[in-house]
Amino acid sequence: PLIIGIESSCDETGIGIVRGRELLANEVASSVDLHVRFGGVVPEVASRAHLSAIIPTLRRAAETADVDLAEVDAVAVTAGPGLMGALLVGISAAKALAAYLDKPLYGVNHLVGHVAVDLLDHGELPMPSTALLVSGGHTSLLHVEDIATDIVEVGSTIDDAAGEAYDKVARLLGLSYPGGPVIDRIAADGDPRAIRFPRGLTARHDLVEHRFDFSFSGLKTAVARWVEQRRLDGLDVPVADVAASFQEAVCDVLTSKAVDAAQHHGTGTILLGGGVAANSRLRTLLEERANAVGIELRRPRPGLCTDNGAMIAAVGSEVVRAGLAPSPMDFGGHSSLPVSTVVVR
Ligand code: ATP
Ligand code: MG
Ligand code: FE
Repeated sequence: PLIIGIESSCDETGIGIVRGRELLANEVASSVDLHVRFGGVVPEVASRAHLSAIIPTLRRAAETADVDLAEVDAVAVTAGPGLMGALLVGISAAKALAAYLDKPLYGVNHLVGHVAVDLLDHGELPMPSTALLVSGGHTSLLHVEDIATDIVEVGSTIDDAAGEAYDKVARLLGLSYPGGPVIDRIAADGDPRAIRFPRGLTARHDLVEHRFDFSFSGLKTAVARWVEQRRLDGLDVPVADVAASFQEAVCDVLTSKAVDAAQHHGTGTILLGGGVAANSRLRTLLEERANAVGIELRRPRPGLCTDNGAMIAAVGSEVVRAGLAPSPMDFGGHSSLPVSTVVVR
């Protein structure tokens, strides 16, 4: 089926078009430049930017894919989680489009999109699989029995998300927003063993109750204290070493828990998804550790990890393939939609 996917949950207006699992177009307009001076996404600014970008982005996607929108079989749109005002722009556009084309509309989960997007790059997913979802607002381990119908969260962060930790640490190092890509780049020139930062929820007693959970706020505080002490001592802050050591702490915990979850649940595949899945160290360390125990790693190309419309079209394609009923035309946005709800009712 030919599916159009519409994404507007945060600061990217994304329109993707897929035929089955073939990616035909993926146009993204980001309002990130408007948020830089605030050091984070300003919801009202993001909503306005979506409003002006959505139709031009839709037009570009249809041109790139070289399809007539009348040929589309179904429309998929992010119903949540995300910023309410931002979500409503995409949902309203999707409803108008689906009503005009007289085609079914699916309000789908953004987080499932971060996982499903890999199917566009690597095809059918072996089931069951374990997914490591690492984004700006979420960090969880998922047991995926069926990507359209059966996803169970087996662990999640008890405080900050991984991307949030990157952004906060970048900020305290005086680096620009968003911090993830900047730290990734700067860490390449640093020594990951220079400073031993804490690995959250990995102590023996934590593993009893929080085996598959994460915690990054203690790490962020440890980095802040370390940097502060250097400054008090009148010493320069070795930014590359701090970035590399922080990154190593994050990636060490994420990868060891992902492999543990896959082994515990008897899955042969780990699927990586979310904005932080673009991280070069996470990609290589997870590959090393998964392969060492005979687990296959699947990860989308870095360009598909951060928010886009293709990931939403990918979910649409899977739910249509599974024969799920469309969403009712009166569905709304859900700012904290759980990952287990793939399609809203
Ligand atoms: P969510 O998907 O949870 O609703 P979001 O959509 O805002 O949140 P994403 O777009 O999935 O988040 O990811 C953005 C996050 O990814 C930011 O925190 C950003 O710093 C981080 N990120 C992007 N590229 C990298 C990278 N190369 N290394 C580390 N982090 C990165
Ligand atoms: Mg973004
Ligand atoms: Fe996202």
